[in-house]
Amino acid sequence: MRTTPYRDVTRAKCGRCGERGEYEWSGVCAERRGKIIYHALCSACDREANEMLLKWFYGVGKATEIMRGYE
Ligand SMILES: [Zn+2]
Repeated sequence: MRTTPYRDVTRAKCGRCGERGEYEWSGVCAERRGKIIYHALCSACDREANEMLLKWFYGVGKATEIMRGYE
């Protein structure tokens, strides 16, 4: 697991599906154990992760509204 940020995340592969990385995600608290863990995500997986968390946090209506403005 990576504990330092990517210098250029587009040169890394998405940690979930292997596509070209586009966004850096600093993981979730449970996997940190005192350190921040960095992951590369492609744009499709980044979008999916955002949508999933927004739905869980705000509910479907508000999540859909927020995702509309997210590219
Ligand atoms: Zn991906």
